[in-house]
Amino acid sequence: MRKALDYLIALDDGHGIGTPGKRTPYIKSLGRQIRENEFNEAVTLYLKEELERCGFRTLLTAPTDYDTPLTMRTNLANSMGADILVSNHFNALDGEFDGPGKDPEGMSIHIYPGAKNGRKLAEHVAKYLKQGTKQKYRGIVEQNLHMTREFNRAAILVENGFMDNEREALLMINKEYQSECAREQAQGICDYFGIPYVLVDGKEPVKTVKPPRKEVKGEYVVSNVVGKRVESIYRGSEGLDFYRKPTFNNRYLAGNLKFGYGFPTIVRKLKVEGAYMYEVKNSHGYKYYLTAADEYVKVEGTKSKKVSQAKTTGNSKSSPNAIGEIKIVNVNSAVIIQDRPDRKLSKNIGTISKGKTIQVTGSVRGKNSSSGYWEVNFQGGLGYITGKFGEYHKIT
Ligand SMILES: [Zn+2]
Repeated sequence: MRKALDYLIALDDGHGIGTPGKRTPYIKSLGRQIRENEFNEAVTLYLKEELERCGFRTLLTAPTDYDTPLTMRTNLANSMGADILVSNHFNALDGEFDGPGKDPEGMSIHIYPGAKNGRKLAEHVAKYLKQGTKQKYRGIVEQNLHMTREFNRAAILVENGFMDNEREALLMINKEYQSECAREQAQGICDYFGIPYVLVDGKEPVKTVKPPRKEVKGEYVVSNVVGKRVESIYRGSEGLDFYRKPTFNNRYLAGNLKFGYGFPTIVRKLKVEGAYMYEVKNSHGYKYYLTAADEYVKVEGTKSKKVSQAKTTGNSKSSPNAIGEIKIVNVNSAVIIQDRPDRKLSKNIGTISKGKTIQVTGSVRGKNSSSGYWEVNFQGGLGYITGKFGEYHKIT
């Protein structure tokens, strides 16, 4: 099992102390404005202390008072191999105090749209912030922000309140609030990694009973293949993976099928993580889940992709010719397959697990990826996978 020391946590305090605009309106009772970075830096330093007490290694992405450019921050965190990134901020709407009850209020956690690990991290942190601080909880917000987009792994950006709400603005310089936010974020981070949180006195808190893990579910798709036999047409030596649950997560891997082997009965077809799977039964009635992509499986009574492709040589509409294959590397569990070679504008059309291989038809420069993209054959069409996640092999 991995220990806290195995993980590096990148901590990002938003903006610099002198960044123009990033401050509260003038606060009469205080006789001054509060700068956003006063809070961001304080909570970040508390968080560093919390995490180091729990045994984690930490990395400050912006350790100086100067407003470190965002690209420098994410480049540093990526190049140091940080496992997660947590950026702390204080929100603003119109930059004015409108009086009690009239200003926006509360905290929110921001993740990159569709980021699965980012969402998981956000949910763990949210659990503690919700039950801890008295702040209104505004939820997890999917938003295209530099810090969560350009960091390679799970990233969250926490907006801990509104600078233009006078009550919340004063929380920015409240040491109890700063340290409470840090403590609750640290508890969530510990949970995310499965590491025990360590109290200030060095003790571990009393363990509470974990709620049951949420059932993994797929979305039912109407299909005419129910009751038929399905078999692997995948020729890779490692075989075609199948799972105990409707997911492509390796945690639920049940086994693999060599070419020509299969299951006697399809129970139903499901949409799972942006792709399709068959729920199948073996001869003992046990249920398993298998990709429904027709590059990999053939259903009894239908033509496999490969057969039909061979018969329609000359038809330029058929799947493009593969030049080789890539093995999925450099990720924790799976990578996203995009509909176009542009990380910012693409839609996710599927995922593929670490260690799997997929046919490639070429590589393209695309946009917003320093390592370009692999163009792959996916479900009879084209998909794109970020270059650094694929290791190329010629098909032998
Ligand atoms: Zn900010």
